Amino acid sequence: MLNLVLFGPPGAGKGTQSAKIKEKYNLIHLSTGDLLRSEIAAGTALGLEAKKLMDNGQLVPDEVVIGMIDNKVKANQDAAGFIFDGFPRTVAQAEALDVLLEKNGTAVSGMVALEVDEEELTQRILERGKTSGRSDDQDVNLIRNRVQEYESKTAPVADHYKGQNKYKSVAGVGAIEEIFDSLCAAIDTL
Ligand code: ADP
Repeated sequence: MLNLVLFGPPGAGKGTQSAKIKEKYNLIHLSTGDLLRSEIAAGTALGLEAKKLMDNGQLVPDEVVIGMIDNKVKANQDAAGFIFDGFPRTVAQAEALDVLLEKNGTAVSGMVALEVDEEELTQRILERGKTSGRSDDQDVNLIRNRVQEYESKTAPVADHYKGQNKYKSVAGVGAIEEIFDSLCAAIDTL
């Protein structure tokens, strides 16, 4: 199996690139942000709890997202592999992912990180906010909270994969196709 962790701060382009990677490598795209937004749209108890945190730019509890990913991995045992987008976002999530993949007889193939500076990220998210309907994309303070959560809790996840010799990074600025080509070059070395 090819199990990719697509990494990078909010607005780095993970969703856009995931759609292209999924097609090319025939993978299942698992975005915890999308899964949580589906729960909110369906009005579930989990969604209601998650919404309060997401509306403040804070992370939802590890157990919640780990449970969602565990269900999806179990339900897709015949897949060629997965793209994990927006997950793992904490070191505890990364450790849990290692365990749950091992239980399913597989492992993370590698993490590929998209590098984009904060100024560009803020501009992209505000631009996306004009059409995404996401309230967390429309307020500079909320975007700043998300970037802070990323720096304090999520950036250390890269070290988890560096320690396993599974980390690659790619410049996330430029044309979508160019970035995709760089990503594929990194993925093909895994
Ligand atoms: P972005 O990366 O652009 O901020 P996402 O759709 O990945 O957007 O995430 C939106 C929000 O959903 C996050 O700010 C956070 O509140 C919540 N979320 C998504 N994935 C996770 C996760 N793995 N752990 C905790 N919270 C998460």
